[in-house]
Amino acid sequence: MLVYKFGGTSVGSVINMNHVKDIINTKGKKIVVLSAMSGTTNALVEISGLIKVKEVSQAKHKISQLHHSYKSTVNDLITDKTLRSEVSSYVTSIFDALLDAASQPHSTLLHNTIVANGELLSTFMFSRLLQQEGLKATLLPALEFMRIDRTNEPDNFYIKQNLERLINQSQDSDIYITQGFICLDAEGQITNLQRGGSDYTATIIGAALEVEEVQIWTDIDGFHNNDPRFVNNTTALSHLSYDEAAELAYFGAKILHPQTVMPVRSLDIPLRLKNTMAPNAHGTLITNQIHGEGIKAIAAKDGITAIKIKSVRMLLAHGFLKKVFEVFEKYETSIDMITTSEIAVSLTIDDTTHLESITEELEKFATVEIDDYMSIVCLVGNQIIYHPDTPQLFQVLQDVNVRMIAYGGSNNNISLLVNSSDKLETLQKLQRYVFEGTVVSV
Ligand code: ADP
Ligand code: ASP
Ligand code: MG
Repeated sequence: MLVYKFGGTSVGSVINMNHVKDIINTKGKKIVVLSAMSGTTNALVEISGLIKVKEVSQAKHKISQLHHSYKSTVNDLITDKTLRSEVSSYVTSIFDALLDAASQPHSTLLHNTIVANGELLSTFMFSRLLQQEGLKATLLPALEFMRIDRTNEPDNFYIKQNLERLINQSQDSDIYITQGFICLDAEGQITNLQRGGSDYTATIIGAALEVEEVQIWTDIDGFHNNDPRFVNNTTALSHLSYDEAAELAYFGAKILHPQTVMPVRSLDIPLRLKNTMAPNAHGTLITNQIHGEGIKAIAAKDGITAIKIKSVRMLLAHGFLKKVFEVFEKYETSIDMITTSEIAVSLTIDDTTHLESITEELEKFATVEIDDYMSIVCLVGNQIIYHPDTPQLFQVLQDVNVRMIAYGGSNNNISLLVNSSDKLETLQKLQRYVFEGTVVSV
C-alpha cells in the first residue's frame, strides 16, 4: 500500500485533476489524500470571517460566487449524466448549508465546519471522476477515522482501528480517496490539523497502515534549498534526512506542514515529494539517510515574538531560568530560540495567545521587553556547525541586523533572528553566499 497526497494546485483545475487521475492509475492499492482546490480554503476562511462580523449579505454573495465556480468545474469535469447530477446535488447541498450557516451565530465549531467543506468538495468530485473513468475507487470519509486527542496529537489507536475497518468494508477497491486536513477532536466535533494539514493527514495514515511510502505531490519539483517565493535560483534537493526536513518544515518551509515528518520518522517510512506538473522529475526523497555536508537548505518562519527577560538582580540568580521556563510551561507556550547572558535571557515564541499572562508573571521577578514582527531564518545541514565554510557565513550578515543567533544547540541547525522587514534581504544574501559561492560585499 502507498499513500499519495495531492495539494491545492494539483486538484485546482479540471486539467490538473486529470493529471492526478493519470498519476494514480497504476497497479497496487493506494490511499489518495486530497486538499481542497486551491483558493477554496482561503475563500471559506473569508466567508467565516464575514459571518463572524455579521456581514451576512457579503458572506452570502461570496458563497454564491464560489458555488458558481464549482458549478462550472463540475460541468467540465463530469460528463456522465447520472454522475454529473449526483455531483451537482452534492455540491448544491454543501453551498445550501453554507448559506444557512451565514445567518447563524459564529463559533469555533461553525468556523471549522465551514472550512472543512473544501476537502469534502474536492474528494467527492474526484471520486466520481474516477468512477466515470471506470477505476475502482472508494471515498473514505476522514471524519469517520481521523481524530485528534485532548493534546491535539493524532489518536493513533482510534485512527488505525477505524481506517482498517473502513478499508475492509470495500476490499475490492484499488483506490481509497480521503480528505486531508479535516478531523474530529476528542469531543467528536469537527476540527482540522491547521492550515496546510493535508500533508500531515497523509503521514498519519501512512504510519497507521505502515505503508511502503508516502508521496506528497505538489506544484514544485521537491524540497528546494531556499524559499522559491522569495529567492531566485533555488534548486531542488534530491535527498533529505527526516531530521533536516522536519527542521526546515518547522522553521517555515511551506512545502511541508510542520508536523508532517513525525509520524513516518519513527517507522522509517520513506517520504517522497513529487511535482504533479512534472511527474518525471526526481523530486526529494526523505529517509533516515544523511547525504552531503555543510549548509543544505535555508527556511524562514515569520510571526515570531522575541522576549528579553532581565533578572532584577545584577546576575542571573540560581533558579532564575527554572522560574522562567515554569511560566512558559504553565501557559503551554513553546520556545523556539533561546540565548542567555549574565543578566538576561532572550527567547522567542510563535504562539502569543498567552503573552499577556506570561508577561505579567515574568514581571513578578524580572523586567520584560517584547519585540514582535520578527522572523527566524534557519540554516540546516548535516553537522553544519563543524563545516569549514560555516564560520564565514557571518561575514555575509554584517549589514543585516541579527537580533539573536542560536549556534550549536544542535549540530545540524543554525538559527538567526531578524526583523521580518530584513528577512528577504537575509535570505537572498545567504542564497548568493552559501549556494552560489559569492561573498556579498557589504
Ligand atoms: P500544496 O498546495 O501542494 O500543499 P503548498 O503551497 O502548501 O502546496 O507548498 C508548495 C509551495 O511551497 C511551493 O509552491 C513553494 O512556493 C513553497 N515553498 C516554500 N519553501 C519551499 C522550499 N524550501 N521548497 C519548495 N517549495 C517551497
Ligand atoms: N486546504 C487546507 C489549506 O488550504 C489544507 C491543505 O491544503 O493542506 O490549508
Ligand atoms: Mg501545502
